Amino acid sequence: MYEKLALYIDGVFVEAEGRKTEPVLNPASGEVLGQLPHATREDLDRALAAAQKAFQTWKKTSPLERSAILRKVAELARERAEAIGRNITLDQGKPLAESVGEVMVCAEHAEWHAEEARRIYGRVIPPRRADVRQFVLREPVGVCAAFTPWNFPFNQAIRKMVAALGAGCTLVLKGPETAPSAVIALARLFHDAGLPKGCLNLVWGVPAEISEYLIKSPIVRKVSFTGSIPVGKQLAAMAGAQMKRGTWELGGHSPVLVFDDANVDQAAITLAKLKIRNAGQVCVSPSRFYVQSKVYDRFAAKFIETLKSINVGNGLEKTTVMGPLAHARRVDVMQAFVEDAVTHGGEIVMGGARLKTAGNFFPPTVITGLPDHARLMTDEPFGPIAPLTPFADPEDAIRRANSLPYGLSSYVFTESLKTATHVSNALEAGMVNINHFGSALSETPFGGVKESGIGSEGGTETFDGYLVTKFVTHV
Ligand code: NAD
Repeated sequence: MYEKLALYIDGVFVEAEGRKTEPVLNPASGEVLGQLPHATREDLDRALAAAQKAFQTWKKTSPLERSAILRKVAELARERAEAIGRNITLDQGKPLAESVGEVMVCAEHAEWHAEEARRIYGRVIPPRRADVRQFVLREPVGVCAAFTPWNFPFNQAIRKMVAALGAGCTLVLKGPETAPSAVIALARLFHDAGLPKGCLNLVWGVPAEISEYLIKSPIVRKVSFTGSIPVGKQLAAMAGAQMKRGTWELGGHSPVLVFDDANVDQAAITLAKLKIRNAGQVCVSPSRFYVQSKVYDRFAAKFIETLKSINVGNGLEKTTVMGPLAHARRVDVMQAFVEDAVTHGGEIVMGGARLKTAGNFFPPTVITGLPDHARLMTDEPFGPIAPLTPFADPEDAIRRANSLPYGLSSYVFTESLKTATHVSNALEAGMVNINHFGSALSETPFGGVKESGIGSEGGTETFDGYLVTKFVTHV
């Protein structure tokens, strides 16, 4: 049975009860799965007031108590992973194994934050006089407003929840209206794990209206957003106008550099599988492929061969490796990328047109021969399209990789330690993966540089975004 759609305010799940609703669609079929209630202004005010009230006690709970709740969340997430995963496939589209995997991996995020929340230490600074004491305390920033996207609905929401709650903050979160089941399931996990009422509140509605109302509220002290760069900039400007802290995890356009000395077949297979994961709707998806001339043809052949073996279909089918795109509008975006590529002289060597079935299906697509100014080389596709382009000089490849205003993830394939070191030093990116994909673990930083964002939602850096420093001295 699909998730019962609701708001979660002050410890109570609230169904439509006369509120405006919006339909949630299955991207594989267009079928309506349920009606999502929108929060009214009164709902938003109640959620803010509940978070403000709960903060007064939650900030004083011991890290041990907070840790116990996060551990319980991890345990319950593992128990319910199959059911939650099935609903993610229904409203988001990804294959069932990926959906269930998302929940299982996220149980680790809750556990890891349960551990680290117990190690939020301050420090003692040696004084200039023997009778003076100087301490640095780290305190939770306060009520947070969080906005999470539809591509990894469980993952993106739990990362913000465990970081904020683990640090002693409370929050009001708006999840993705098009894939809401995972976020409601998360609220149920926290509820059942014994999180005091008001610490976590969940609202839905028109994104721009909710974000403006929450960010401008004097109750909110910190904003965390994961989504596109244009929206991130708008929200950051709004938060900055009131000097509110922010964690901004935005898009990228991850360059891949494959060098002549790489294990070419392994690189092509690894990258092809990574490219179609979640139908390419991943902020760290490899998206611009620069391949050194000597191995270009071999890489392209293996890459295309691997993509051709990918079974595209409904995520609930056992044989499906790549599901539909999450929304109908993303299919239009893919089509526009292809049209722009053709006008720039690109050759569509595989895929290139939406599948003529019900649902938002777009096949793995490979385009060659594009100039660097074609849209696909400058704008993040956020879908299953890969442009391949050769390079001769490594310095030229680095320059092209760094030429965009983004800097989230990047990929390097080489067997030379010297090349790996040089290129990882030179790439302007928050994450550099050499010869494999190793990002997005709970214990490793996750964030970008340049326009890809500010702050991290992984690793010990995570808590920095949810804590403020207080210096105390006495004599
Ligand atoms: P979009 O810019 O319309 O929306 C991106 C996300 O932000 C969605 O979850 C949406 O609900 C939310 N959003 C939009 N306007 C908002 C507002 N004013 N206030 C608060 N939230 C708002 O783009 P889209 O078509 O939904 O997604 C495609 C783009 O989003 C991609 O280009 C990609 O860069 C970006 N994206 C990035 C991530 C990520 O993990 N960094 C995740 C999802 C989407």
